[in-house]
Amino acid sequence: MRTLNALPPSRLVFSLAAACRAHPVAEKVLVVHTYQIGWEILEALASHTGGWLNLRLATPLSLALEAASTRIAAEGSTLVPPALADAILHTAYDETPKGFFPEKPTPGLLAAIRNTMEELRLAGIRPEVLKVLHAIDPVKANDLAAIQTRYEAELAQARALDGPMVFQMAMNGSPTGRGLILVPESLRVDGLTRRFLETFTRHSTVVLREDPVLGLDSPSLRFAAPEPAGAASPNSYWFAPEALPSDRPALDIFAAVGERNECRAVLGRLLANGTPFDRVEIILADYPTYAPLLDDLRRELGGLPMTFSGGLPASRSGPARALAAFARWIRDGFPENALRRLVASGDLKVPEGLSGRRVARVLRAAQIGWRADRYASCLNGHCEELRRRLEDTDEDETTARRAARLDEARKATDWILDILGLVPLEDAPLAECLRAARTFLDRHVAIRSASDGIVVGRLRERLAEDARYDARAVSAVEATERIIALAEGISVDGSGPQAGHLHVAGVRQAGYAGRPVTFILGLDDSRFPGVTLPDPVLSDAERSRLSPDLATAASRSQEKLYTLAELLARLRGRLTLSFAAFDLSDNRRRFPSPVLLQAHRLRTGDRLADYQALMQAVGPPVGFVSAGRALSTDHWWLSRIHDRGLLLDARECVLAAFPDLARGAQAEAARARPEATPHDGKIGPAPELDPRTNRALTASASRLERYPDCPRRYYLQYVLEVELPDELVIEPGVWLDPMTRGALLHEFYHRFLADLVRTKERPDPRKHLDRAHGVLTEVIAEYKTRVPPPSEAVFAIEVEELKRSVKVFLQGEAERRSRNTPSFFEVSFGLKEAGAGAPSKPVEIPLPGGPISCRGKIDRIDRRPAAHEWEVWDYKTGTSRYFGANDYTAGGTQLQHAIYALAATQFLRQSEDPQATVVGSGYLFPTERGGGEEFRRDPARIPEALAVMDRILDLIRDGMFVGRGERCKFCDYAALCGSGAKDRWKALQGEGDPGVGRLIEVLDHA
Ligand code: SF4
Repeated sequence: MRTLNALPPSRLVFSLAAACRAHPVAEKVLVVHTYQIGWEILEALASHTGGWLNLRLATPLSLALEAASTRIAAEGSTLVPPALADAILHTAYDETPKGFFPEKPTPGLLAAIRNTMEELRLAGIRPEVLKVLHAIDPVKANDLAAIQTRYEAELAQARALDGPMVFQMAMNGSPTGRGLILVPESLRVDGLTRRFLETFTRHSTVVLREDPVLGLDSPSLRFAAPEPAGAASPNSYWFAPEALPSDRPALDIFAAVGERNECRAVLGRLLANGTPFDRVEIILADYPTYAPLLDDLRRELGGLPMTFSGGLPASRSGPARALAAFARWIRDGFPENALRRLVASGDLKVPEGLSGRRVARVLRAAQIGWRADRYASCLNGHCEELRRRLEDTDEDETTARRAARLDEARKATDWILDILGLVPLEDAPLAECLRAARTFLDRHVAIRSASDGIVVGRLRERLAEDARYDARAVSAVEATERIIALAEGISVDGSGPQAGHLHVAGVRQAGYAGRPVTFILGLDDSRFPGVTLPDPVLSDAERSRLSPDLATAASRSQEKLYTLAELLARLRGRLTLSFAAFDLSDNRRRFPSPVLLQAHRLRTGDRLADYQALMQAVGPPVGFVSAGRALSTDHWWLSRIHDRGLLLDARECVLAAFPDLARGAQAEAARARPEATPHDGKIGPAPELDPRTNRALTASASRLERYPDCPRRYYLQYVLEVELPDELVIEPGVWLDPMTRGALLHEFYHRFLADLVRTKERPDPRKHLDRAHGVLTEVIAEYKTRVPPPSEAVFAIEVEELKRSVKVFLQGEAERRSRNTPSFFEVSFGLKEAGAGAPSKPVEIPLPGGPISCRGKIDRIDRRPAAHEWEVWDYKTGTSRYFGANDYTAGGTQLQHAIYALAATQFLRQSEDPQATVVGSGYLFPTERGGGEEFRRDPARIPEALAVMDRILDLIRDGMFVGRGERCKFCDYAALCGSGAKDRWKALQGEGDPGVGRLIEVLDHA
């Protein structure tokens, strides 16, 4: 025999070679679990013997199809496509009256029922038998039997055959008598499959012996029992180390901090040793977790050649991600922010001239919130607003910029509405939903690589196949769940081992290629053996009572361990085992699998070695820093800045390499100095920001009040004009945010009181409650169109709360009824939307340091009983926590009452009462939350307020914008500021900085 590979082959290859030698020209059929495994065995055989003659591969099912081919052809039947089998099962389930299973099954339950039914049918348990066996709950037995009967009838009607039917037909046929059937003894067969192989091929079957597993009981599903020890490889003794007669196997064990470091350590070892890639197989105890990590690392390394036996999840590619996100957007009720994220991700093809980010900006600005029916109106409304602003010459933007923005919004609107137009109606046929998903893929998903193209092709194929067979009308949730499962469930790029490539495989597919260097990753005890969950349809006790052919949790666990033992036994060459000793996501330790303890006993010959001995031998886990070649940028940095596991101070070199970090470090150092610096917000003289000298500026009460609250926030908001994202976001338990709720109530106060003024009545809670509720209902209806509530239940709760606030408002009005007559509402000055009779110009406020122009809107002006006496009131709809009866400017944060008193005086004298005097100005809290409180300020003290305003403007003029850190928790700019503002403010107060001292004087004014 010519040996092409330096290492002896596995016993399976050896047995196969012997069969080929004994029957060189006869037709031979090697029965394998999958064709991929078969090809690997044949390649190993070729490598070992140089070739073979007249040998082909078959699976048990393909063999059964051959055996039953005459009858199948005569009946005109075909093998059922998976999509048709799914559709038939759905229909059978839906049409069966059920006593045990729910009317609407989850996809997981249906999958479990499908598996259980297949097991029952392979075990030869017919529906009629299931009902009379009394082995399981009778109601459940009835349900399962009825679903199964209907399922089989539908299959028969469609002339479609599934696996159990094919095996049944094959057993009733006559043997072909062609060639030898070669069956590896490790092939797993049960029930009908076993009976087919044992009876139909018994005269021509040759069992291929494999490397035995010693020390474990053989699972019943194995085709043949292992032969007695004797011709065993060293790795056969994994679970009987004490019996190992000769050389100990070459194996190594290591631990790592997290799975990524484990993978990185493997690749690092291979690169350091210069091991040819196609001599290596990497076996994963947890393929779904580790395969994507290896794929990431191989990409970081510039595309290390690697083949993956089970492929990689398509959900890692843009098209599958986009399709799943599209389906989730529909399922979740069309939340605008979900579509925005999808658009901004770059996974979609946006119209020419636009980018994903620009379309996302249009989406956000349109204030859609959620619900499909709002998209068209909100987007068109946004375009209309932009068109109006284009015509408005008062705006700051240039006409060209506004025109471009409008053009952008229109294009984006057409494109978004096209996507929306693809969405079928609620309870549409599933096929229609799947076709819509396919059109979405064709029209809107970006294909950026050949691999993306393959994913799109696979997705289109699956969508088309499912659409062909399933004609049921389904809910949007069911249809979208199906699309999500499809997008996330398929794998791509699966491949057998290839020349020049590392090969990665799961435990069941591994060890056949005969590669001399093997790594097995993921051997911690949570993964191997891990927990085997019982079947949700039939309990283990029911399965045991029904048939020995039905697997239980215990037998599946035994099977898992035995499969690994068989894999180990057939390996040759150098073996390295590893596990993640620390779970970085959960921040907790992980422990080695019992398999590793066996490995340690095997390599040391110490059959009594315990876990402590194992961990001592394994040594410290491989972490983020390690010697040797760096495999990624972060790895390179960490490898340069550590000394024997300790990280050194690498500040200087890191800052030299990253200039932005260096600037940040400078700012941090400046903020440690005793005096305030520009990095604290003390930017130096800025007279252009002072409305007393720069008369083009118009001040407002709210702006001035913002300064003492936090000068830095003032700077960010009004000087740098940092805009906050303006969007409607779903909060499941909230309809209106505080600002919108306040606007709604202001609208109600205005309309209701204006109506009373028109009818010359005064507010009376007993008389006007219904009328007030009528006005409130009108306003609420308008707001409901603008801001859709997340649910009717939430809406009802908030409406009740608003009604209670209206009651509080009416009571407050009744108490003041004898004194005042509300006369003017929403009197604006210096604002563009000034109402009838209101001054269109800003009012001038005479400060000691010079006059300023001011704008604002007075909520209401009341006429007092005494001649020429008036009061000015502002509604507050939040809490009254920050207002005190004895406050006047409250440290400069309440200046509005003074400015509005002066503005109202000017307004009244010009339009209503030349001798008008404002004798009271203040704040009303007419809501349930505000308790109907009233805070009145004395207009005689207005000069004090003007002096405080003057001091604030002095500080602004001098460029003093230090953060106070008082209300950072509720500040929209907290993400920009970071932490530490409060401590810095305290430190600056202690250092006697003159600017800080002047600010404190303002804050101290009561
Ligand atoms: S986060 Fe704090 S310090 Fe920064 S601007 Fe807001 S309130 Fe001021």
